[in-house]
Amino acid sequence: MPPGIDPPARYAVFGHPISHSLSPAIHRLFGEQCGIALEYTAFDVAPDAFADAVRRFLARAHGANITLPHKAAAFALADERTPAASRAGSANVLTRLADGRLAAHNTDGAGLVRDLAGRQQCALQGRRVLLLGAGGAARGVAWELLDAGVEELTIVNRTADAAAALAGALGVTRARARYWQDLADLGSFDLIVHATSAGVLGQPLALPPGLANPQTVGYDLSYGRSAQSFLAWARSAGARSACDGLGMLVEQAADAFALWHGRRPDTDPVYAQLRATLA
Ligand code: NDP
Repeated sequence: MPPGIDPPARYAVFGHPISHSLSPAIHRLFGEQCGIALEYTAFDVAPDAFADAVRRFLARAHGANITLPHKAAAFALADERTPAASRAGSANVLTRLADGRLAAHNTDGAGLVRDLAGRQQCALQGRRVLLLGAGGAARGVAWELLDAGVEELTIVNRTADAAAALAGALGVTRARARYWQDLADLGSFDLIVHATSAGVLGQPLALPPGLANPQTVGYDLSYGRSAQSFLAWARSAGARSACDGLGMLVEQAADAFALWHGRRPDTDPVYAQLRATLA
């Protein structure tokens, strides 16, 4: 590096596996758009090596995105935690503070709400929402959905105890847990958020058609092939629209970018480029 020229700021995403991650492409496109030189790497790190690897990286870098299966571990190793991260008990972003300590953030829920309100034109105020799943992603989005004014958040999970625990942690009567086997008796919802990893794992998901009506928005947090099964179900059940989590992915990344660079990029051109690539 010639004298007087700063090296690009260093960022990375940590996951296991990681080859599918779109985060390097998204952050490079944001950097180009904002005229910010950055280096962004994807690290495939097994769970037992994660804490050491991310600490070593952040000793010399500015920040990191965290994806499956490390979000809870990232939350645990941080020195400071934002309210959104604390509520979810997981972090999808770590930043190195000026004194070297690490701060945990969770931008997943905000990313979902922003994509719903914008691209999907799905108002949340006063709506009945079904949240399928009670894992890390479901915990990350549940509070944000309630904060956005959802009238009733029904949480259904394969393991019923986890749904009950999440509803209890939310601590409001607007949030309630129901059994998977009772799905057919719940009526229809304005929004159905699919937050299980069944699609990623290639496992079938049994959902009754009556959950959707012609105004329902079906939203799968995953994208690409993983989302296809749920999206096909939502269309066949008569939902108004069926969308995957690509928009959420880009929006949560933009919030991470803003944390690191003090500037939120325009997400629309990046979303359009990725959508075209995925197609
Ligand atoms: P977790 O491993 O934390 O949780 C998995 C959840 O899926 C649990 O509720 C689990 O239920 C449920 N589940 C797994 N297999 C099945 C099945 N066969 N049938 C029914 N339920 C099942 O994963 P995450 O919550 O972190 O991730 C969930 C999804 O969200 C993934 O597809 C991930 O890619 C996506 N995601 C997308 C983001 C985006 O930006 N677009 C951001 C974050 C996540 P049980 O408790 O019974 O095990």
